[in-house]
Amino acid sequence: MAIDLRLPTNSIVRPDKDRFLDEVNPFEAMMSRFDRAAELLDLEPGIYKILRNPEKQLIVSVPVQLDNGEVEVFTGYRVLYNTSRGPAKGGIRFDMKVTLEEVKALAAWMTWKCAVVNLPFGGAKGGVVCDPLGMSVGELERVTRRYTKGIISLLGPDTDVPAPDVNTNERVMAWVMDTYSMHVGRTENAVVTGKPVEMGGSLGRKEATGRGCMLVTREAMNHLGLKMKGATVAVQGFGNVGSIAAKLLVREGCRVVAIGDRAGAFHNAKGIDVDAAIAYVAKHRSLEGFDGADAMNPDDLLTLDVDVLVPAALENVITTKNAPKIRARLICEGANGPTTAAADPILDEKGIFVIPDILANAGGVTVSYFEWVQDRMGYFWSEDDVNERLGGIMTRSFQEVLSLSKQHRVNMRTAAYMTSISRVATVHRLRGIYA
Ligand code: GLU
Repeated sequence: MAIDLRLPTNSIVRPDKDRFLDEVNPFEAMMSRFDRAAELLDLEPGIYKILRNPEKQLIVSVPVQLDNGEVEVFTGYRVLYNTSRGPAKGGIRFDMKVTLEEVKALAAWMTWKCAVVNLPFGGAKGGVVCDPLGMSVGELERVTRRYTKGIISLLGPDTDVPAPDVNTNERVMAWVMDTYSMHVGRTENAVVTGKPVEMGGSLGRKEATGRGCMLVTREAMNHLGLKMKGATVAVQGFGNVGSIAAKLLVREGCRVVAIGDRAGAFHNAKGIDVDAAIAYVAKHRSLEGFDGADAMNPDDLLTLDVDVLVPAALENVITTKNAPKIRARLICEGANGPTTAAADPILDEKGIFVIPDILANAGGVTVSYFEWVQDRMGYFWSEDDVNERLGGIMTRSFQEVLSLSKQHRVNMRTAAYMTSISRVATVHRLRGIYA
């Protein structure tokens, strides 16, 4: 299989206008959800303080010679939020808007995400402030390798295991793995997940996040008494997560009436041929010029009259401004943090059932876990095995969160946070404080 040498296909340019509308600081915004769950759990002050602080934060300078001979110095971050349950796990993103506060919030999210599906991992995130779309493949490789060298003291299969995230892909993971392996003097494929299958990647990893979205959407629709057949869906973001979620929802009988990416949004009430859209993006790298649907205002995609809305692009797209206008019955958060904390109560009041990001998009890290296990065993599973085990974990986790939400009469987000925080807190209680 040929590896795509072009820049990552899950590249996203942030549609910025209202992105920071409800946010003062992404970390504090994430923590406001944490605080609510901690209060309901009656978390003791000591553990509350521990869980509110990242374990390690590393900032590195990444000097790189550009193709034109000039030297540019990029800034890179890696935050290990909590490793009480196992090695830190979480992606690396390349984006001009990466900040330490954002990486901290995303690393905390990874901690709760791994715990909500009960993986033996802690949470981490990394990022480099750069514009990968404006870089050559060679520049991208040099940035990746030098950043990897910068954070190498943290990395290792037992300590910190990166994966792809916004604007990074399996090719980038291959460079991280090679740089680490050269450094330690042996081939260590369990140091990253989301690698090419030819070098220890797992079958089904690429599709796993989108598949997980479909699986929890199916559970939620069943719970709400909605039929998959004929249900209308709008998907924002047509990268790795949105496109696969759309494709698999169509297989379940849904009608995807709107899709959108950085190039714009497209609508077709009769249903979009999602396979054709995926083939189009594979060829043209975005939906720009896609003629299988009518172009629409991207701002209107989120407020379409559909049964299911899948925000699968970036943070903070559902805000206090557009939340009152959302008409979907169900939201499946494929992206990390698509809804601002201030918008949550508006969706609740409207009776919209939200499958929160830490549960909805946990399929990716779940198959990352399978990849890490397979690498360490040196024994690889069939795609059917991977998908079956993923299905078991996603449906079980959904049902656990749902029953907690009923028990405490809270929404799914609060119940998901309660589930994961109590799991992490239990481990802290059992381990005690090293002194
Ligand atoms: N970047 C993905 C996420 O946010 C995957 C992380 C991983 O597999 O470690 O969940």
